[in-house]
Amino acid sequence: MAKGPKSIEIRTYQVGFGDCFLLSFIYGDKDNRHVLIDFGTTGLPGRTAKPSVHMPKIANHVLSVCGADGLTAVVATHRHADHINGFGTDGKTGKSGSIIASLKPKLVVQPWTEDPAARKDAKKATTGSPRSRKSFVAGLAAMNDVAGMIARIAKNPPPWMSASLQKELTFLGMDNIANKSAIENLIGMGRRKGAKAVFAHHGSQSGLDKLLPGVKVHVLGPPDLTQTEKIRKQRSRDPDQFWHLISGGSAVSGKNFLSTGFVAGSNGKNPKVPPSARWFRDRLERLNGQQLLEIVRTLDQQMNNTSLILLFEVFGKKLLFPGDAQIENWSYAFEDAPDAKKTQGLLAAVDVYKVGHHGSLNATPKQGLWERFSKRDKGLKTLLSTMPGKHGSSRSHTEVPRSTLLKELETRSALQNTMSLKISDKGDPCHVLRIKAS
Ligand SMILES: [Zn+2]
Repeated sequence: MAKGPKSIEIRTYQVGFGDCFLLSFIYGDKDNRHVLIDFGTTGLPGRTAKPSVHMPKIANHVLSVCGADGLTAVVATHRHADHINGFGTDGKTGKSGSIIASLKPKLVVQPWTEDPAARKDAKKATTGSPRSRKSFVAGLAAMNDVAGMIARIAKNPPPWMSASLQKELTFLGMDNIANKSAIENLIGMGRRKGAKAVFAHHGSQSGLDKLLPGVKVHVLGPPDLTQTEKIRKQRSRDPDQFWHLISGGSAVSGKNFLSTGFVAGSNGKNPKVPPSARWFRDRLERLNGQQLLEIVRTLDQQMNNTSLILLFEVFGKKLLFPGDAQIENWSYAFEDAPDAKKTQGLLAAVDVYKVGHHGSLNATPKQGLWERFSKRDKGLKTLLSTMPGKHGSSRSHTEVPRSTLLKELETRSALQNTMSLKISDKGDPCHVLRIKAS
């Protein structure tokens, strides 16, 4: 068996606002191993592009690259639609998830918060105290429901709602709703005979090392609840009663609320709102725009902080894939964790950086991360998957991608940006970065 890869290829796919990366480890002429990191979109460039047409195209390109090798692993960094809805098999993205499943990944890696056992059997908890873990995971599910309600309010906006607010609420709401089909496919691929599912946290094994000889994968995030309460505290500071629901369901009967499987607006029809959720929906409808925005933004950030952060070490090169991790997730890795010093060393030596959260400022902490990369101006390579005009606003300096960060990336690193990829029938729908073992 090959000792280590001779070269690697990284494909950055054009999925509009979303992420999709294919890492190919080339061991020999007939031994290539492929890892797909995320596959989702919440918006495509151009007026005519449709996810139901475009996403199968991307999946088929992945298929053509992997060929008979199949997929060694699939990584889903976190539950946001723009990272996982391509795994769906229900037709919304043209059943692109079925194409990926046909590549029979041997391993599916997700953050610990996605462990289905956490919802059913707290005793099987792999991390955290069963109680805190269960309520946290249930909280994430409740967030999906609330996001759906907010998206629905924005769909039939009250007269006072401005067009820009409606746009932002719709975008954030839709990104945070549950993607049942994609989640089921991810779980199903991990449960296939001969396959394995890993739900990882900071410092845990990803399962990738065994399948990729000569490659070491460090799981830098997310921390679990025994490691930090930070990802939890962020929301308990919020005075709104909503957060009581999230933190354990005392304000509303959380159990009834969750067990209904009610996701408002997900099918565009009039869903039956269960009585336990009705008062909550009514309450949401009475909030003003700013309050709705606060809630949905906090939901969005909370979910981003469940992102896996993976650092691949291969023939001395270090490749960093942090999903959409934001500061609370990052700061555990490089500040609070017992092995923070080691992580700082790894980050300083990064050769390839997948820009966090589509180039938003809160995902590339300047001092903790960007300024730590010692290869800035010295060959650092960066990969950015983004689409302007979807997220944030330049007026509040929150536009994605953030112009100041984009300028840094362009001037201090070799940047591959999906914004330069056209959606057309001709040519490959991706950038390719090739790195050889030296
Ligand atoms: Zn994202």
